[in-house]
Amino acid sequence: DDRIARIASAIRVIPNFPKPGILFQDITTLLLDTKAFRDTIDLFVERYKGKDISVVAGIEARGFIFGPPIALAIGAKFVPMRKPNKLPGEVISEEYSLEYGSDKMEMHVGAVQAGERALVIDDLIATGGTLCAAIRLLERVGVDVVECACVIELPELKGRDRLGEKPLFVLVNAP
Ligand code: IMP
Repeated sequence: DDRIARIASAIRVIPNFPKPGILFQDITTLLLDTKAFRDTIDLFVERYKGKDISVVAGIEARGFIFGPPIALAIGAKFVPMRKPNKLPGEVISEEYSLEYGSDKMEMHVGAVQAGERALVIDDLIATGGTLCAAIRLLERVGVDVVECACVIELPELKGRDRLGEKPLFVLVNAP
């Protein structure tokens, strides 16, 4: 698909952000390229339209950029998966480990119902810990997580393996 090459080249790579030694994949430049941004959303919509998905769960913060246009286009609701203490209503939360320490992800109680079919979306998968926390949160309330989708995968970090049997769809592999 020739749309992929344009998407890949619209992603900027910034060395030593947020700390020395990290090559940060910056999707804000993808958002500036109106064709590449539209193609990104279209590729996800083409994959998920008609698949009976009623929930698009987007991970804070960049899952909030890609998730809503996909949700609208496939006729699903959008559910934000947030950092702790951001959601005002009653939440359920899931702790997950980071390179140093741990973090928490929260979702509003009542946002999703048991038996619903969900897609989880984020900009990038590195170790896969973040996506795993989102999957656990949704599965705890009986949601069927059909697939996870990211714009970028860092294959060297083997996040895909951490997801186990759960399917992962990505547009671009980064070195
Ligand atoms: P993981 O849990 O190790 O898979 O890390 C994925 C999370 O970290 C996602 O929410 C990403 O947005 C964020 N992340 C890690 N590295 C990058 C990067 O290079 N660019 C943008 N986001 C990143």
